[in-house]
Amino acid sequence: MTSWVREAVKTLIEYYQVKWWGDDYTSFEILVATVLSQNTTDVNARRAFDRLKKEIGEVTPQRLLSTEESKLVEALRVAGLARVKAKRLQQISKEVLERFGGDFDSIFSGDVDSVRQKLLSLPGVGPKTADVLLAFVKQASVIPIDTHIFTIAERWGIAPQRRSYEDVKKSLESLIPEEIRAAAHVALVEHGKRLCKARNPLCEQCPISGICPYPSTH
Ligand code: SF4
Repeated sequence: MTSWVREAVKTLIEYYQVKWWGDDYTSFEILVATVLSQNTTDVNARRAFDRLKKEIGEVTPQRLLSTEESKLVEALRVAGLARVKAKRLQQISKEVLERFGGDFDSIFSGDVDSVRQKLLSLPGVGPKTADVLLAFVKQASVIPIDTHIFTIAERWGIAPQRRSYEDVKKSLESLIPEEIRAAAHVALVEHGKRLCKARNPLCEQCPISGICPYPSTH
């Protein structure tokens, strides 16, 4: 019943051809950028990241921790919740320094489950952030689920309303081959922003409207 999903995802990967934003970032910078992107747009998160980099030079746990909180707040203002995010970044930095000697890359050694647990044990790191790091730093075959992907999965009939993060992730992972899961994440996020929008999906412009069950039922 859901065998069309694989085809749909491949079509979307081909259609959007999006490069993932974090290719030029260190693993710690990916973590920082993901924290900054919480509750704001990508554009504002990127702006805040650039300002932060300008303010502190290198985005490392050492620099974040040795910078006055007020300066961080100022740099992060554009991303919203600046005080909360500044504090969170300093808490994460402290943990990375104390528990991992400041070497964030060392967290990624070990099997996927143990790395996920280590990531989740950091302050402010939830399942989505952990999975973004697993997919793009450790190259693990997981699909991070964000709000756009939740909506799409619901419209595709593979994630009825109010299912948990883990349920949606498992459903999608069971339908999408390992080797394209990271690319699927990137394409689905883009699809949610451009066509399969939360309020008004633009089904008439969608390259998979012929196989998606949603248009014929709404
Ligand atoms: S046809 Fe509509 S609901 Fe289905 S994926 Fe495309 S935009 Fe979303």
